[in-house]
Amino acid sequence: MVKKAGVLGATGSVGQRFILLLSKHPEFEIHALGASSRSAGKAYKDAVSWKQTDILPESALNIDVQTCEPEGNFKECDIVFSGLDSDVAGEVEKKFVEAGLAVVSNAKNFRRVKDVPLVVPIVNPEHLDIIENKVKKSRAEGKKTGYLICISNCSTAGLVAPLKPLVEKFGPIDALTATTLQAISGAGFSPGVSGMDILDNIVPYISGEEDKLEWETKKILGLLNKEGTEVVNIPDEKMKVSAQCNRVPVIDGHTECISFRFANRPAPSVEEVKKALREYQCDALKLGCHSAPKQTIHVLEQEDRPQPRLDRERDNGYGVSVGRVREDPLLDFKMVVLSHNTVIGAAGSGILIAEILNARGLI
Ligand code: NAP
Repeated sequence: MVKKAGVLGATGSVGQRFILLLSKHPEFEIHALGASSRSAGKAYKDAVSWKQTDILPESALNIDVQTCEPEGNFKECDIVFSGLDSDVAGEVEKKFVEAGLAVVSNAKNFRRVKDVPLVVPIVNPEHLDIIENKVKKSRAEGKKTGYLICISNCSTAGLVAPLKPLVEKFGPIDALTATTLQAISGAGFSPGVSGMDILDNIVPYISGEEDKLEWETKKILGLLNKEGTEVVNIPDEKMKVSAQCNRVPVIDGHTECISFRFANRPAPSVEEVKKALREYQCDALKLGCHSAPKQTIHVLEQEDRPQPRLDRERDNGYGVSVGRVREDPLLDFKMVVLSHNTVIGAAGSGILIAEILNARGLI
């Protein structure tokens, strides 16, 4: 049965990507759209300033935009995706969960709460066991429970994708540096990055971003406690992460130059690292999820790749590209990672999480 999906913040950068992905999705249909009072009461086509290169899907044109309350069509949704601004996401998402709805959020507000899974679906879907345990418990009591799942920060999603198979194969990474070159779509539309600031320029500061990369990586690569009720982060003393974040004049696609060291000796060879990356298959593919990338990590051998314009759409934006894998004179290895910030870094991750939940009977 096709599931009813709602989108909060439907008019924004992430919200528009949700609309695109849902409009052609076999398992979900758009049932409710929400945004601010500036947009509420209008048909979606009149409320949105559409900025995608694909045209606005017909199925969304005439849907009435609501305010972000768990009422009306939202109450009937099987899953609600949130692309809300963090200034308002906290209160709105809390109300939706309290109303018994399943919410997958892009906002930062609840990412650090221990019993809220922070999930990059191609990396740590096992953290969704927290939700399974919650749902099973309430079903056994004859009740319906609302729940919240957070999607990571967009640059963190790209960073952890190649780290997961390496940690699985070669053990912990104890030191990691990442310098990012982040696309302007990652800053949203209102107000977004001004042309005067970004054309012919690089801005070496993104508010809060470095802290997110340094912290979220340790939760996503962390393990569940034995009850399966919360995540135990990798302790700071076991993994040092240092990030520097830059905004660059690229529309979509975050590039990250990373170096890292394994805790165990001897370290693997460059060829072993590449093989582990190429062989990694995410669980979503094994579950048969519609959007799961056929190739999770694309290891590119050309010396000038990956590049955002050429490589961001691999596996429809759900695959992550890695190039220039080589030894690092300070740590063990360095490489360049590219990921699509509004697909696997935002809305696409939300959709793939929902597909996993659906495959596991949790929505
Ligand atoms: P955005 O383009 O600025 O969109 C914000 C959305 O929130 C719009 O739909 C806006 O509706 C709505 N909104 C604003 N104030 C509201 C209010 N008071 N009540 C209800 N709705 C309100 O932002 P974005 O880039 O899509 O980001 C959305 C969230 O995702 C943020 O928390 C961001 O940090 C996170 N995120 C973004 C990316 C990315 O690549 N862009 C990646 C990962 C995570 P109106 O049009 O009516 O104002």
